[in-house]
Amino acid sequence: MSSQWIFLGGEFVKKEDAVVSVYDHGFLYGDGVFEGIRVYSGNVFKLEEHLNRLYESAQSIMLHIPYDKEEMERIIVDTVRKNKLDTAYIRVVVSRGPGNLGLDPTFCSQPKVIVIAETLALFPKELYQRGLRLGSVSTRRNRPDVLSPQVKSLNYLNNILVKLEANQAGVDEALMLNDQGYVTEGSADNIFIVKNNTIYTPPVYLGALEGITRNAIIDLAKKHGYTMKETPFTRHDVYVADEVFLTGTAVEVIAVVEVDGRKINGGNPGKVTSHLLTEFRKVVRTDGVACYESSPTTKAI
Ligand code: PMP
Repeated sequence: MSSQWIFLGGEFVKKEDAVVSVYDHGFLYGDGVFEGIRVYSGNVFKLEEHLNRLYESAQSIMLHIPYDKEEMERIIVDTVRKNKLDTAYIRVVVSRGPGNLGLDPTFCSQPKVIVIAETLALFPKELYQRGLRLGSVSTRRNRPDVLSPQVKSLNYLNNILVKLEANQAGVDEALMLNDQGYVTEGSADNIFIVKNNTIYTPPVYLGALEGITRNAIIDLAKKHGYTMKETPFTRHDVYVADEVFLTGTAVEVIAVVEVDGRKINGGNPGKVTSHLLTEFRKVVRTDGVACYESSPTTKAI
């Protein structure tokens, strides 16, 4: 028996017992929303921002979350505490809940809230030292007027398709363009380029999720005196950049050292990327909601 507790539909259940109905529209149709959140040293990083995005995603698809934000915050913190976690990854899922086989959500009367918290070590150091190889893919980012990238929905097929292409091409991550050929983002991360000490990231209206790490990096870059611009750019601009890096909850800030076979910065992670990663790791420990009065390793809960 595992000792992991999962919040499922109003109560904590053991991982083995955490199952949902095959009639749940999250399963049948990808009808629901989610968030991926990190806990650093017992602090839930940017919890308010993640909750705002979760509730906005739900509002957009007319999905009622049966808790207010304060209650949801409590549930998330309690899940971390219940599992006695210090450094963790949290997945919050709100699905439309069980209905019938038709896709009409009218018949789904009980949205399901799920919170999973797991141990997550930082990614291997080597990955940050080596950097990632990026490849552009033929699958375009879905258009904001079709399914807005701002809705972090359970329908992640657009992103899964690009990940499959990246896997086929033997690269670490995909570079997704929009239908006009402008750079948008990776399969689950935002992209930044550095040119002549100015940092650029695509505006989200081109078709990128407004990443919470992205916004934190924009703030940090400005704070540390870099010129930061949200400007459309193309693959060419990425190929000739001084540095390229990706940001996301899971990956934090990671260098890209090759794009479509073009070496970036001679194939090495750059100084600006390393600087921002260092500064990012400093703020993550302080900018969050504390789960414990003191460290869980020093105080029993
Ligand atoms: N883009 C997509 C498509 C994502 O799924 C994610 C991960 N949530 C990101 C960007 C990065 O967003 P965040 O920094 O909020 O994790």
